[in-house]
Amino acid sequence: MSFGVYIHFPYCLARCPYCDFAIHARPRIPHREYLAAVRKELAARAPLFEKRELVSIYFGGGTPSLWEPECVAEVADAIRESFASDGKMLEVTLEANPEQLPRELLDRFRRAGINRLSLGVQSLDKRHLATLGRPHDATIVKRAVEDSRAAGFDNLSMDLIFAVPAQTLADLDRDLEGMFALAPDHLSIYNLTVEERTPFGALERSGRLKLPDAGLAAEMFDRVAERAAAAGFEHYEISSYARPGRRAVHNSLYWTGGEWLGLGCSAHSFRRLPAGGERFSTVRSVDDYLNRMGSIGSIGHFPDPLLAHHEPLSDETLAGEACWLALRMLTDGVDRARFAARFGDDPLARFSSHFRRLVDEGLVAVDDRRALLTPRGALFADEVGARFV
Ligand code: SF4
Repeated sequence: MSFGVYIHFPYCLARCPYCDFAIHARPRIPHREYLAAVRKELAARAPLFEKRELVSIYFGGGTPSLWEPECVAEVADAIRESFASDGKMLEVTLEANPEQLPRELLDRFRRAGINRLSLGVQSLDKRHLATLGRPHDATIVKRAVEDSRAAGFDNLSMDLIFAVPAQTLADLDRDLEGMFALAPDHLSIYNLTVEERTPFGALERSGRLKLPDAGLAAEMFDRVAERAAAAGFEHYEISSYARPGRRAVHNSLYWTGGEWLGLGCSAHSFRRLPAGGERFSTVRSVDDYLNRMGSIGSIGHFPDPLLAHHEPLSDETLAGEACWLALRMLTDGVDRARFAARFGDDPLARFSSHFRRLVDEGLVAVDDRRALLTPRGALFADEVGARFV
């Protein structure tokens, strides 16, 4: 069974005002201490994922490009040694910020075995970057992309955020043109969401953050889809666009019933069991993670002192989640035969009333092979998904 390993690296140089991730802005990063903890966790949890076929390793965060490349290499090597793979090239992704990527560092990450970079570009417009608290500009992004290509990274993804305060459709068009001109292989494009416990959340509560209204945000979503298709990208998932053959292997595991092991603080894991499955996640604070790791002998057996959350999942729950997640895959959708092979019956029979209503509302279209979100359904993907879980 295909699976991937996610490693959460929780450190950043500063916290962006919209960010709600488990991160810590610290002047000193304990590179080796965190490495030792992650390796120890890997050794303890690997037996839970025996007989899986490793297809991807993903360093996310936080800003994992702040981790010494030699530490990244050690973790990646230890993961490769712990699991079987089918011999095809593994996708090994590292998230990075464009302003922290000198050429010499890129070379070291290439030597560490990273073969895919995910650049946190977010925008190329100075005003919107300032709003988002990002210190780079379009020139820095261009240089990071050129240096990455020169260092041998032939698989580059970029993140873009739209519906930023005061953003217009014309601003978005310029961002998209600028991004396409950089010839990325993959784009992750998100609508800005304001989380309550962030500085943006506080500004919104006090009425000082003016976001584009829902109508404009929907127009922006459509504009992104239209322009990306014209530029040769497949809109394969609500927020994901790929050149042919460049879908994100790791993220696709999340949407297609794959399994993954999360390592580090605030990392989530999912595995299937003979009946149902289980999901678990580690403590959010890196200090708790390191302290607990230092004071325990062995982990990997529940109750596990590193875990903040452990949830057994029934087949019924997994079947609902499978529909929700597969519908996010805009061109693949819910494959009826595949679902039946996994859960024993046709999804349209199991969730007949949900699907009937969604079809009547024009949010989902079905044929004898699959169920897909309609363009209108894509705008309401979260609401559609909520009906299944
Ligand atoms: S760089 Fe990324 S992870 Fe770090 S604070 Fe900013 S948005 Fe959050």
